Amino acid sequence: MDLKSFIRDIPDFPKPGIVFRDITTLLRDSQGLRYTIDTLKDKCDRLSPDYVVGMESRGFLFGVPLAYQLGCGFIPVRKPGKLPGQVIAAQYQLEYGSDRLEMHIDAMPPGSRVLIVDDLIATGGTAAATAQLVQEAQCHLVGFAFIIELKALGGRNQLPDVPIVTLIDYD
Ligand code: 5GP
Repeated sequence: MDLKSFIRDIPDFPKPGIVFRDITTLLRDSQGLRYTIDTLKDKCDRLSPDYVVGMESRGFLFGVPLAYQLGCGFIPVRKPGKLPGQVIAAQYQLEYGSDRLEMHIDAMPPGSRVLIVDDLIATGGTAAATAQLVQEAQCHLVGFAFIIELKALGGRNQLPDVPIVTLIDYD
């Protein structure tokens, strides 16, 4: 299946000069959605994760069904101030300024095998910050899975040396 054909390009979003890769047109297609989750499942099975960690908010959309298929639990990583319990936090750089992600301190038992899932990797800042949280939780990062990789931005070079599963890429 040509998954890329389900991705809609939106020029000048969220600001002029950026082409946003819209995944809502993939999510709404029943066959595209099923194929996406089934393919991720096939590619990630060998990593034997105990938990899928997904980032707010599009990481939730793919992370939860993937966790279900893999027979794992799902752990949300959220923007500041959203999680009700005690959290650990990781800071990361944006083009202008910085941002912060949080995870419950007791989300996973130390030593758990963790797969990090998001819809897209661009600069890699979001995924690298999430990997820091997994490390701080003393868990074992077994890999990353993204639907889309924007290759020109070189985000994978920011990530620890573990397997990276991607389904669609753009140069
Ligand atoms: P990074 O931290 O790798 O630079 O950016 C990745 C994060 O930004 C992901 O959480 C992703 O959801 C979001 N993101 C950045 N650009 C796009 C885009 O063009 N399409 C989508 N769907 N998400 C994007």
